[in-house]
Amino acid sequence: MGIKRRDFFKMAAIGSVTIRGSKSLAGEEGPALDFAQALGVLVDAVVCIGCRKCEWACNNEHKLSTRTLAEFEDKSVFAFKVQCMHCNNPACVSACIVGALRKNKIGSVDYDAWKCIGCRYCMVACPFQIPAYEYHEALAPRVRKCTFCEPRLVEGKKPACVALCPNEALTFGTRQELLDVAKERIKLNPEKYFDHVYGETEIGGTSWMYLAPTDFVNTELPKLQTAAIPNLTETIQHGVFKSFVPPLALYGLLGLVMHSLREGKDEEEKHDERD
Ligand code: SF4
Ligand code: SF4
Ligand code: SF4
Repeated sequence: MGIKRRDFFKMAAIGSVTIRGSKSLAGEEGPALDFAQALGVLVDAVVCIGCRKCEWACNNEHKLSTRTLAEFEDKSVFAFKVQCMHCNNPACVSACIVGALRKNKIGSVDYDAWKCIGCRYCMVACPFQIPAYEYHEALAPRVRKCTFCEPRLVEGKKPACVALCPNEALTFGTRQELLDVAKERIKLNPEKYFDHVYGETEIGGTSWMYLAPTDFVNTELPKLQTAAIPNLTETIQHGVFKSFVPPLALYGLLGLVMHSLREGKDEEEKHDERD
């Protein structure tokens, strides 16, 4: 049943691409989003105790496995969770040729397994390497990533991970509220916080943002440019459909673009090599 559904959409997508020529299926225009009022979460690595209850909550709610990373810097230990950043201008959304990913008005980036054809371009496009694929599912594998617990948000509840965090390391609110909270924490405790809210400007801003006790170049979060990525991925997509570039070449192109957007780690690596 799953294979038939997937095959049907694969054929529909190919047919549609042929009919529409260079026009991206992911380029459906929606109403402009008010990013300041969209919902998000502030992850504060300064107060996170690494208990991993957020991981348990996510797994319990969705059978999803998110990660909590422990970082070691200047002899201090700190932890923070990683998941989909629910980017303001998501590269995964623009890379998806059938519109299976969509940025929602409330702030979440949603995934529609019914539309997904399993091309995994979203996995290559994501600068945070977040989407995972259910390779073990033979019949109807899905792309898996944080859903922002959207059904809970619609019911007026907090995301499951936020609700269970015992140390208020996760703060839920509108993006503007979170930025205000984050900047106030930095201002009141400059000795504890590195003076940057990760996600405020990176790749056009993200709905989930971070505070840390150290420069983010020392963490797993990539150093990224401030410009949003979708223009690039859409340009590549349009070129692909115009020129009938084979899918493998698209993987290569997307991978190359994402690599070029990572600033810090690469510079650091070059520096290390020189040393
Ligand atoms: S973090 Fe990756 S998967 Fe999540 S919205 Fe951004 S590009 Fe998409
Ligand atoms: S918001 Fe929901 S889906 Fe996302 S990490 Fe938290 S519990 Fe998991
Ligand atoms: S539940 Fe809260 S304190 Fe515990 S690891 Fe997750 S974010 Fe950190």
